[in-house]
Amino acid sequence: MIKIDIVLAISLYLCSSICLVFVLWMFYNLREGGQVSSDNLSDLQQCPYCTYVFFHGNKNDVLMCPQCQCYIDKRR
Ligand SMILES: [Zn+2]
Repeated sequence: MIKIDIVLAISLYLCSSICLVFVLWMFYNLREGGQVSSDNLSDLQQCPYCTYVFFHGNKNDVLMCPQCQCYIDKRR
């Protein structure tokens, strides 16, 4: 029979909780598709004035930063 002391019990408890978090993380990542498509990465824009990073869904050449409300020209 395996003798369990307090150190082994605590380590088993911590390992099981970490494994539970890892399994839940894998489950939610695989359910959402597991990868970020390149279309989403091309919609990523950083404001040159306040360095705020945001997603834009429109295909216009002029964007508006949601943080500082400045207009950004995508062509530059
Ligand atoms: Zn900005």
